[in-house]
Amino acid sequence: MFRSPSPTPPPPSRPPAASRGPSRVRRPTALVAALATAASLTVPGAAIAAPASVPAPLAGDPRPPVKQPVATGYGGAVSTVDPDASRTALDVLKRGGNAMDAAVAAGATLGVTEPYVSAIGGGGFITYYDAKKRRVYALDGREFAPKRMGQDAFLDPATGKPIPFGEAVTSGLGVGVPGTLAQWDLALRRFGTRDLGTLLRPAIKVADRGFVVDQEFHDQTAVNEARFRDIVPTRKLFLPGGKVPEVGSVFRNPDLAGTYRQLAKRGIGWFYEGGLGREVAGTAAAPPVDPKAARTVRPGLMERGDLAAYRAVMREPTHVPYRGLDVYGMPPSSSGGSTVGEALNILGNFRLDARDPVTALHYYLEASKLAYADRGRYVGDADKVDVPLDELLSPGFARERACLIRPDRAAPAPVAPGSPDGSYEPCVPAGTQTRALAFEGPQTTHLVVADKWGDVVSYTVSIEQFGGSGITVPGRGFLLNNELTDFSFQPPAPGQAPDPNLPGPHKRPRSSMSPTLVLQDGRPRLALGTPGGSTIITTVLQILMNRIDLGMTLPAALTAPRATQRGTPQVYAEQAFIDRYGRELAARGHRLELFPGPPTGVIGAATGLEFLRPGLVQAVAEPTRRGGGSALVVHPVR
Ligand code: GLU
Repeated sequence: MFRSPSPTPPPPSRPPAASRGPSRVRRPTALVAALATAASLTVPGAAIAAPASVPAPLAGDPRPPVKQPVATGYGGAVSTVDPDASRTALDVLKRGGNAMDAAVAAGATLGVTEPYVSAIGGGGFITYYDAKKRRVYALDGREFAPKRMGQDAFLDPATGKPIPFGEAVTSGLGVGVPGTLAQWDLALRRFGTRDLGTLLRPAIKVADRGFVVDQEFHDQTAVNEARFRDIVPTRKLFLPGGKVPEVGSVFRNPDLAGTYRQLAKRGIGWFYEGGLGREVAGTAAAPPVDPKAARTVRPGLMERGDLAAYRAVMREPTHVPYRGLDVYGMPPSSSGGSTVGEALNILGNFRLDARDPVTALHYYLEASKLAYADRGRYVGDADKVDVPLDELLSPGFARERACLIRPDRAAPAPVAPGSPDGSYEPCVPAGTQTRALAFEGPQTTHLVVADKWGDVVSYTVSIEQFGGSGITVPGRGFLLNNELTDFSFQPPAPGQAPDPNLPGPHKRPRSSMSPTLVLQDGRPRLALGTPGGSTIITTVLQILMNRIDLGMTLPAALTAPRATQRGTPQVYAEQAFIDRYGRELAARGHRLELFPGPPTGVIGAATGLEFLRPGLVQAVAEPTRRGGGSALVVHPVR
């Protein structure tokens, strides 16, 4: 559990701060006694070792670069899924850039090395702790729908039925107006100390020089091969020589290097108001499909005016107190902060004990089940629909929901949503109108960065599916997202509860992305996030419970086997989870099944960091899931 931090040394002098927004960190309540006394982290020795030498891969060098899942030290830290991206962030930190600078540089590099999950053709969410202001901010870079998109957009005009999900994925219709560049611009104007052009430089180098194809990149290309083949510029870029690139070969993306160079020169106006925007809108409106392909690729609705209308938005982060800590998350258009927050509030009504992990997991699964029912009923883009966010996160509502949980028996799923109406009974009977979980694509990427001043970034960036829409902007080196498939496809039938997540003009589809920051006594303690579509919420929640309630170290909390309960009749889990807890959870009525993926049996790919004490940070990545990630610190300790 958490030890109380020792007094903070004065932060090093820092570059001038940009103007700051309005949200305030509320001071946490005192730690509960159990937490205050149960400090059990092993803090590595304080001796500073030589900076980690992580060799850069050379073009033609068939060895994939070195990855290490845990790094502990001073002076700043980063964790991403990719060694090139982590190294890029580390270099920015070493040269005096701050956490936001480093996060943008890493995001740009991920656009090169992880082009199937991250691109300037997508969007994302950032939570940010500003050490000088001692405030948490939330930056919404979620894609929005074209103006012409109405609530029936995903119904087939011929049949009136929803178009098949797979068809919507590989289509212009699923492409949202990308938010990434606007978000980077906002992030740098508000919090950065470097300009975008400077931060794109390392990514340009990687795109020109190339990176070594690893098994993950190979496999992600292979699962996309059929649709990539059908879309001419995608085939040209990602199937060089007509083939899936082999492990150990070097993959270059000079088109993307060129695009980044132009962006460095012309600024993001080229994208939102200029020639590149014209190309983006044109590509979504008329996807460049091989005329010989049998595939139906529906045209999109995007127009140039939609790009000009796009804005990334500063929002008030969600906040819930939990066991004496303060947990901040992403508000709508993501359901991440509200659903993680509500589930934590529910869990706060129970005593979770490391000596009885099965009971803790039972409560975790039941709390998730309830919070998901409320997410489905109440959460959508709050700029377009009313979301009762304060009530969803209120302790009264959580108590009302918690009293539906039986310690010995799982409730049949899905459960009905509650009534976050401000009037709470000690215990209300369960409602009846349930809603099944809509399918949501499962892949994106998360990164965390802390700098020597104590600023922290938690950033999830996405193009939705592995490979997004599968549509590459010709000659520009990046894929367009399919984020609009996160909308509900079918309006509710008469008599059914309203759906807050129907498509609409300039509406953002509900996300699950949960870039999370945890503060202790007003100072950052943990930063965390993961990909995984709607499993993002449960993965973040499970890691928080592992770390805060079950006393695991952050590396152990991240590595522990996972299960996800999102209102489905089954609990989907990793095999190791089923092996370890399946029998005992089944005795309480949970039906465990292997998580269907993709990838099968693997839930999420988290990254996180923890301040072990002021200045001393442990950066953590996955050791094995999705090929493992890369954690680095500026001054490692032995
Ligand atoms: N589209 C998903 C969301 O916004 C993210 C995709 C993923 O994490 O895999 O929640």
